[in-house]
Amino acid sequence: MSTEEKPEVPVDAKNYKFRAEINQLLSLIINTFYSNKDIFLRELISNASDALDKVRYQSLTDKSLLEEEPRFEIRLIPDKVNKVLHICDTGIGMTESDLVNNLGTIASSGTKAFMEAIQAGADVSMIGQFGVGFYSAYLVAQNVMVTTKHHDDVQLVWESAAGDSFSIREDKEGERIPRGTRISLFLKDDMLDYLEERKLKELVKKHSEFIAYPISLQVEKTVEKEVEEEEEEEEKKEEEKKEGEEEKKDDEEPKVEEEQKPKEKKTRKIKEVVHEYEQINKMKAIWMRKPEEITKEEYAAFYKSISNDWEDHLAVKHFFFEGSLEFRAVLFTPRRAPFDMFETKKKNTNIKLYVRRVLIMENCDDLIPEYLGFIRGVVDSEDLPLNISRETLQQNKIMKVIKKNIVKKCIEMFNDIAENKEDYQKFYEAFSKNIKLGIHEDADNRAKLAELLRYCSTKSPDELISLKDYVARMKPEQKNIYYITGESKEAVRDSPFLERLKRKDLEVLFMVDPIDEYSVQQLKDYEGKKLVCVTKEGLEIEETEEEKKRREEMAAANENLCKVMKDILGEKVEKVTISSRVVDSPCVLVTNEYGWSANMERIMKAQALRDASSFSYMASKKIMEINPDHPIMAELRKKCDNPADATLKDLVMMLYETALLQSGFSLEDSSSFASRIHRMIKLGLSIDDTSDSSDASDLPPLEADASAEPGEMEQVD
Ligand code: ADP
Repeated sequence: MSTEEKPEVPVDAKNYKFRAEINQLLSLIINTFYSNKDIFLRELISNASDALDKVRYQSLTDKSLLEEEPRFEIRLIPDKVNKVLHICDTGIGMTESDLVNNLGTIASSGTKAFMEAIQAGADVSMIGQFGVGFYSAYLVAQNVMVTTKHHDDVQLVWESAAGDSFSIREDKEGERIPRGTRISLFLKDDMLDYLEERKLKELVKKHSEFIAYPISLQVEKTVEKEVEEEEEEEEKKEEEKKEGEEEKKDDEEPKVEEEQKPKEKKTRKIKEVVHEYEQINKMKAIWMRKPEEITKEEYAAFYKSISNDWEDHLAVKHFFFEGSLEFRAVLFTPRRAPFDMFETKKKNTNIKLYVRRVLIMENCDDLIPEYLGFIRGVVDSEDLPLNISRETLQQNKIMKVIKKNIVKKCIEMFNDIAENKEDYQKFYEAFSKNIKLGIHEDADNRAKLAELLRYCSTKSPDELISLKDYVARMKPEQKNIYYITGESKEAVRDSPFLERLKRKDLEVLFMVDPIDEYSVQQLKDYEGKKLVCVTKEGLEIEETEEEKKRREEMAAANENLCKVMKDILGEKVEKVTISSRVVDSPCVLVTNEYGWSANMERIMKAQALRDASSFSYMASKKIMEINPDHPIMAELRKKCDNPADATLKDLVMMLYETALLQSGFSLEDSSSFASRIHRMIKLGLSIDDTSDSSDASDLPPLEADASAEPGEMEQVD
């Protein structure tokens, strides 16, 4: 646009500079090559709808807001002569400070985020998610004028041809707006298609079908009008008469006679161009319609309109609840988790609460538990009072019933998703933490949520299985569901704790998500089968009579070894016993059934804000389980017969420390562990430790035996 064409800013207008980020955003919108400019209309209609929601909500308590303008509606007025598209609403309008802040000087955090997203290749159509949708007007307009009337201010005009500034002035002469906003887009010359009825209808149908207010389009119509010939003739005659009278005043006609003639109702059709408003959205709330009559595309369009998501939903649940109370809801599961799902300060709720079709609350967190915060949708209650406040909502019994049923329906929806393996995998990747959090928190639905859990296992290392799958292939004599917790699949896959279970062909689930530790503590059992952690005390692997007999014999034969080891390890372990779970390793360290597992200890240590003092008593006592068939143990048994053998203590300490590592614990004192290893290496390399006394004296004393002399290890051979 050339400068001459720019509408002049009136003298009484105040000029403002756009905030730098917004300036950048505008030039990005104007200069980025982006073919789908259609989205501007969706954004502006969505803003209009928000403004209508606001005034409708405020009018519940202040009826005076509706005195001058009782209607809630959106109008699209294409003006072909001036190449302007007007988008008018009877919403809340904007005061002067609203205009200054909202349209130019306060940059929302989304402004920068949106520009970054675009630079990273995101689509401009995502603009709505970033809270800067208004500026999409500049995709199609060279100049934008916002005329607005808020009940606390005079009628104002905001105007900008982008660039770096905008102006605001009082609108004294313009057509009066009783309440609301008119956005006037002075279209670029190649954007005139947006004045076409066909185009506007198509766009509203595509993107704004589910706006809850009527959207009317001003259309030009050629109407046929019937006019009565007689009247016309009479009019003509009258005219002729007048003319005649003027011309020849003395020509007298018998006027009375003519009036007495019976009137002939002859009619004639003429064409006339009129402007009419035609409602172009269906407006009927989607949740009021029958689910079987709604197409997948319609649900997707509705989902996008409430979520600002650019992708379709993964699943939808649409239902009516009738009984002691009545409500309707449409709930959606998205395809992806929001990037800030578990941010502690931010509550993520995406359920809109309506009362008899009036939007009462945008994000209603009393309708859905936190673990289902990713669900999006609408709930429309027939029973709640319209003027209910946030505080009273929390206590409301109706809300509690609605919430309970929403949770139930969400779980049903997840089960529907589970029918398709590929979809479920997507769902589980995105939301398994939520399900596990639900198991931890929601006792009423725990059993149902357990059906949704999936794990890899010793028999299915790469593919997730359900607890149902596990139970279906349990051994006939198997009573428990076995699981192991740990840092990763790789870390648990070859754990010594699995040795005997693998040998006996018993399946073990891998729980390698930190939240598993919490959820499994609450879950406890599934279909009457106890969930048993294979790294904890009390693991009773089903054994034959023969195995049992052998175990008892072994316990007797190793009684002395266990006692000697316990004496050496002292307080480090609670006891030393014979293991029924290890086959190839010499020993493992198990924890108390009700205390923390090694994995839990690791998770707790990683929590930055945890008080270290709570650690000492929460961390479980360890029990050392030895494998009596292992050659190392056989040798140790022999050494026990000679308690004076000085190497015994060192060896037991080393076994303990390696068992710590292998069982998933961290070392309590890594330097003394390192010293012991170094002495072993020296021994292997036949380095005489006494010859390098300075090095030896650097070594910390052995923990179990502070008086141990360096060089004792030499006697191992
Ligand atoms: P968002 O709508 O996501 O907040 P926008 O850039 O689209 O971001 O709009 C910025 C703000 O301008 C809105 O939050 C609203 O306060 C105000 N606004 C925009 N359009 C209208 C309108 N038609 N009526 C009233 N206020 C509006």
